[in-house]
Formats: sequence, structure tokens, C-alpha cells
Amino acid sequence: MKLLYCIACQDIIRLRLSETHRYCECGKSWGRYRTGRIAEVGGKGRIIGIHNIQFSKALVPNPDTRFEAWFIQEPAESVRRINSIESSGVMQEQLEYPRMRNLPTEEQAPFAYWMRDQTRPVVEGIRMDEQDFFYPWDYERWKEQGRPTEQIAGDED
Ligand SMILES: [Zn+2]
Repeated sequence: MKLLYCIACQDIIRLRLSETHRYCECGKSWGRYRTGRIAEVGGKGRIIGIHNIQFSKALVPNPDTRFEAWFIQEPAESVRRINSIESSGVMQEQLEYPRMRNLPTEEQAPFAYWMRDQTRPVVEGIRMDEQDFFYPWDYERWKEQGRPTEQIAGDED
């Protein structure tokens, strides 16, 4: 079993055999299984290997619940490193959208409130309750207007 660890945000996610990549919480790492054995990883992701048999044994109640896990040293036969998501240009483009969680803390709530009726990008592979992406021009406009909490009338896109 392989997991993806992001050295930027410390998130750990399970890789899936899938057409699309899974992302860590900060979006700087992504990966998937290409086959049942070969992992594909990008960004700041590192692959953790877990000893499958030990893991299964540790899962059931017994005196020894330990199992081995390790970082797979690259290059490795079972890991393919990708620097861009060549299989899906759309996702790569979407990944560049800024996120509200990365704004200064004091700006997050007022900006989110101001943005409540604005169109926002939806990024594939991210849970709906984790979607906090915005278009950079909306943020620029919000700052230019002095960080209001209400939309200025007639200023629609
Ligand atoms: Zn991350």
C-alpha cells in the first residue's frame, strides 16, 4: 500500500487507481496509482510504502499491532515522478487558483462574505466543503475597493 505525504502541509492521503489525481490539503502535492503497483506523484509529494502483510495482521486484535512504513527512495521502479499533470491540462490550470485559506487570517472572513454571490472556480478532485478557490481579479478588485463587506451596487461582472 502506498500513501502520499506532502512535505509542504504534512497531509497524508491514500493513492487511488484512478483517472484523476488526488491532492493534498494545500494542493502542492498530487498523485494516483497508474497501475495496481506503480504510483505517480507530483509536486511536493513523497511516497510512503506500508508493509501490506504486517498492516493486515496489525489490524486485527493481537499483542503486536506494529507495522513497517518507509519513504520510498526515488528513483524507484514503483514510483513515477511527474512535474506537471500532462494527462489533464485543465486540472493543472485550475490548480493555480488562489485559495481563501492562504490569505491573511484577518482578510479571510470579510473577503469570503464579499465573495458570497461571486462566481468561483470549482477544482476537480477537491471535496465541495474544501472548495475555497477564487479568481485573483476578484481579490484585486476587493482590495481596490478598500475591502468592503458588501458588493458595490452596479459593479457586476
Ligand atoms: Zn500539501
